[in-house]
Amino acid sequence: MELTYFNIQKFCIHDGPGIRTAVFLKGCPLDCLWCHNPESKSCVPEIMFYKHKCSSCGRCLEFCPARTITDKGELIYDRSKCELCGKCTEKCYNTANSLCGKTDDLDFILKEVKKDVPFYKTSGGGMTVSGGEPAMQSKAVIELVRMAKEEGIESVIETSGFGEREFFMSLHELGATFFFDIKGIDREKHKINTGVYTDVIHKNLDALIAVGAKIVLRLPMIPGKNDSEEDLVLLRDFIAERKDGIMYAEIMPYHELGRDKNTAVGRDVYDPIPAGKEFAPKWRELLSESGVEIRVSGE
Ligand code: SF4
Ligand code: SF4
Repeated sequence: MELTYFNIQKFCIHDGPGIRTAVFLKGCPLDCLWCHNPESKSCVPEIMFYKHKCSSCGRCLEFCPARTITDKGELIYDRSKCELCGKCTEKCYNTANSLCGKTDDLDFILKEVKKDVPFYKTSGGGMTVSGGEPAMQSKAVIELVRMAKEEGIESVIETSGFGEREFFMSLHELGATFFFDIKGIDREKHKINTGVYTDVIHKNLDALIAVGAKIVLRLPMIPGKNDSEEDLVLLRDFIAERKDGIMYAEIMPYHELGRDKNTAVGRDVYDPIPAGKEFAPKWRELLSESGVEIRVSGE
């Protein structure tokens, strides 16, 4: 069995308890306006082209069927003609291109994860499976978590909650902890902000709570998108109704680190959104009325 991923990141300390190795998978069914991991959206490997690094030297035109140069000397990259040969990543002197994503079998991925077992033991860490959305490669993720468990490695699953119920239940039975995103409560607004309705997500959350799963809520808070007074009250009440089934909730203030990556994968850049950090104290104060411990990412 195989997984397609774009990064295996060592020594992560923000993706679950202790020191962790995070496997970032390709493929996401949501389309969040504020996505800061746009390279995770596509299920398949792709070229990231950083236009600001390109000097339009024309070297890649010698071997690439997807590149042309305009009369004005601007390099144009037509993604639809890319054959993923990878030559541009090796031959461009300006490192303007990188290949994002690869597919490996589970034995290889587990071998990478196992390299840091001593750190997991001393810190209470383990493996985190993130994305993208892990539910997009459900069978292989379940198998990876099972294999990790056999090695004594516990797993955290970072998820949007948008997937088949069986996927979440299987992972719960394997003892996984869920870092479960709640990106808003208003159904229509959620559809505008993320491309999908809340129904499947909220039902999966409630099903996990009903079986006593280990759940941390993650709350991406995006100024002007999901943080109105009404949004916050709905979110507070939503959390309060589920407070006995949630370990804690963590506010993830919007940051701009994904902007470059959006253009690099050929995605329109979203409207400018102000950084969220300065609003975090206000958000935390109101959401704390839910009776659940509210943390802020990075604090
Ligand atoms: S080789 Fe690199 S710098 Fe030169 S045109 Fe191609 S992408 Fe741009
Ligand atoms: S991977 Fe190959 S075909 Fe695709 S842009 Fe690079 S050189 Fe061109």
